[in-house]
Amino acid sequence: MDITIKKVASVLNPPAPHMVGDGFRVHNFFPGGNKLKMSPFYLLDYNAKVNFSARQQPRGVGAHPHRGFETVTIAYQGAVAHHDSAGNSGLIFPGDVQWMTAGKGILHKEYHEQEYSLKGGDFQMVQLWVNLPAKFKMTTPKYQGIKASDIKQFRLPEDQGSVKVIAGHFNGVDGTAFTFSPIEMYELRLKAEARLSLSLPAHYNTGIMVIEGAIKVNDQEKALADQFVYFENGGTDFSVEALEETVVLILSGEPINEPIVSYGPFLMNKPEEIQQAIADYNEGKFGYLEE
Ligand code: MN
Repeated sequence: MDITIKKVASVLNPPAPHMVGDGFRVHNFFPGGNKLKMSPFYLLDYNAKVNFSARQQPRGVGAHPHRGFETVTIAYQGAVAHHDSAGNSGLIFPGDVQWMTAGKGILHKEYHEQEYSLKGGDFQMVQLWVNLPAKFKMTTPKYQGIKASDIKQFRLPEDQGSVKVIAGHFNGVDGTAFTFSPIEMYELRLKAEARLSLSLPAHYNTGIMVIEGAIKVNDQEKALADQFVYFENGGTDFSVEALEETVVLILSGEPINEPIVSYGPFLMNKPEEIQQAIADYNEGKFGYLEE
């Protein structure tokens, strides 16, 4: 069988950060300045490690709507409290993954968790917007509060590290998250000099967010913490070698080849669906959530 190498297209530095509310200082790798083909991932906001001072009143972002996609929040440092108009709430601690399907419409708010806020300290998160295929855009809102301990892992030999399978499948280990389209999402924790070979379909859009440490991909391209490795479409196989103790997030998914019209917090297929989302929001059809 032919082995074809999945080649690195570029190693991107984090773009200048902006604040989301007063609680999230994010570097938007896409869809902002970088024109990356990452469908079904529509947006990647990376909150690089930042130190928030202690505060009585938690920082964050108040009630706001979403329709037509999913928000996925992964915590690395600090903690977040979530509430939404579907009645779901949860705390996201380091290692946890919150997978919220906005579907036909939801209001949610995201604040620093009370205890973390009172103490302050390092804060580091990933938030992804995962697009939904047209036939699922108006699905009932859904909430997967996935605890770190719920995520099954593949252990590398000789205690070289682990692959936590958030979604998809790796070496016989099933991912924990339910997804509406094919997605592979792994968190790799590697000891220095650990090396891992991966194989993902050629047509999947693929990238690596480096959370901690440093890696070398395909024995060639080096990427440091806070950089994003963006792959070409075409090949299947690639290797990741840890140059020091390392944490990376692998994102890979089958592209949703449908038109996209985005407007603020709404992600639909047609302009009239955006108009409908705005009308429905103004009529209170996304439910109620206090600030
Ligand atoms: Mn949101």
